[in-house]
Amino acid sequence: MLNYDLGLDVLLGDVGAGKSSLVLRFVKGQFLEFQESTIGAAFFSQTVAVNDATVKFEIWDTAGQERYHSLAPMYYRGAAAAIIVYDTTNQMSFERAKKWVQELQSQGNPNMVTALAGNKADLLDERKEASTYAQENGLFFMETSAKTASNVNDIFYEIAKRLPRV
Ligand code: GDP
Ligand code: MG
Repeated sequence: MLNYDLGLDVLLGDVGAGKSSLVLRFVKGQFLEFQESTIGAAFFSQTVAVNDATVKFEIWDTAGQERYHSLAPMYYRGAAAAIIVYDTTNQMSFERAKKWVQELQSQGNPNMVTALAGNKADLLDERKEASTYAQENGLFFMETSAKTASNVNDIFYEIAKRLPRV
């Protein structure tokens, strides 16, 4: 089996969108109803088999609070991929996600693979607006649930498929 290092991934999005929950689900297969707020940023790594190879994810889970915003470039500048997470039940969090998309498009690495995750999909029926928005902005879109595990592995696997292997 071949082993690939995918480079750094970063999770961005409003506080409470479920960034830490997605990582916890992906890395440990767990979900906490009362996930603690992230302070600054947290680092995780996970190696998974994708088709015929093993790929290693190294993930920065950022805090999301406005007061940590100035630190964000430290995490996304070197990133090969980003997952921008919003809470499908919270319109403000979708607006915040769009701001992150703009920021990455103007200041991020132009080759970055960017995913938009409409999280907490267990609480809501699918919404068209986000998938149209994602298409128009060159993102791939998935509704996720850290709670039920729906599409959590899938969004990371889709990133792995889209990233060049180094
Ligand atoms: P972060 O600030 O973006 O890291 O968000 P957290 O991961 O801390 O999650 C915020 C809250 O939303 C926590 O109470 C989680 O249990 C809850 N949560 C996260 N993901 C989901 C999900 O997919 N479904 C539901 N129902 N709740 C979720
Ligand atoms: Mg968090």
